Amino acid sequence: MPLRRKASGRDGGPAGGRRPLISGNWKMNHNHFEAIQTIQKLAYALNSDDYRHVEVSVHPPFTDLRSVQTVLQADDIPIALGAQDCHPEDAGAFTGEVSAAMLAKLDVSYVIVGHSERRALFGESDEVVNAKARAVLRYGMVPIVCVGETIEQRRAGQAQDVVSGQLAGSLDGLDAGVVSKLVVAYEPVWAIGTGETATPADAQDMCAHVRAQVADGWGRAAAADLRVQYGGSVKPSNAPDLMEQPDIDGALVGGASLDATEFARIVNHRLYAA
Ligand code: PEP
Repeated sequence: MPLRRKASGRDGGPAGGRRPLISGNWKMNHNHFEAIQTIQKLAYALNSDDYRHVEVSVHPPFTDLRSVQTVLQADDIPIALGAQDCHPEDAGAFTGEVSAAMLAKLDVSYVIVGHSERRALFGESDEVVNAKARAVLRYGMVPIVCVGETIEQRRAGQAQDVVSGQLAGSLDGLDAGVVSKLVVAYEPVWAIGTGETATPADAQDMCAHVRAQVADGWGRAAAADLRVQYGGSVKPSNAPDLMEQPDIDGALVGGASLDATEFARIVNHRLYAA
């Protein structure tokens, strides 16, 4: 299919096109001492061949960012620094919040916006997610825009409509050139932190659906370049089959990213493919 410009297979490095991005979302885990240990252990577990195949980002809590940034820079580690959220405004009276401008100063490259936990627990609407994505883009960083349905929505046959609605609202008004550089993470809510994973075929279907919607709304070139991650209980055991799918360009990993050894095995999943 012409839209698919996926990196080459298991043995060779990426042959151009989309370079998979594997991101570790640490959520509210690891204080800054633990964060330093984890990033050092992860760097030790990965090698230049891994980085040639896959781009890696870690998303520690805000209080760890400066410590992790320092380790990455001091040791010249090619892992991208990521954040888990930001406020849409640049500055102001928003007690407890952190702006995209502040994250950019810490050399953050990727910011997760619209994670299902933020949507469900903090009532974030697509409009808010859109404003956050715009703030991230204003400061030269890349938003990882999360979308995904609940189990009730899937059982009711609404999964694609829900994801389409979230995607349309979250990307509303963005130019094709911008959309082509985005990362969308398809994360079925029922698979997050539950140990349940979408089958590779179901994950592929939804990621292809996301790409088709982007092709409709922003053009085929944007859709071909857009990276679509899968997230939801990704582990070393299921990563090879998921990452093999033509429209899946990496993973957003929660629980399994807290352990450097386990996360490294997901990053170099190609070595464990059957
Ligand atoms: C996530 O937090 O985005 C996630 C996918 O978590 P987990 O891997 O633990 O399901």
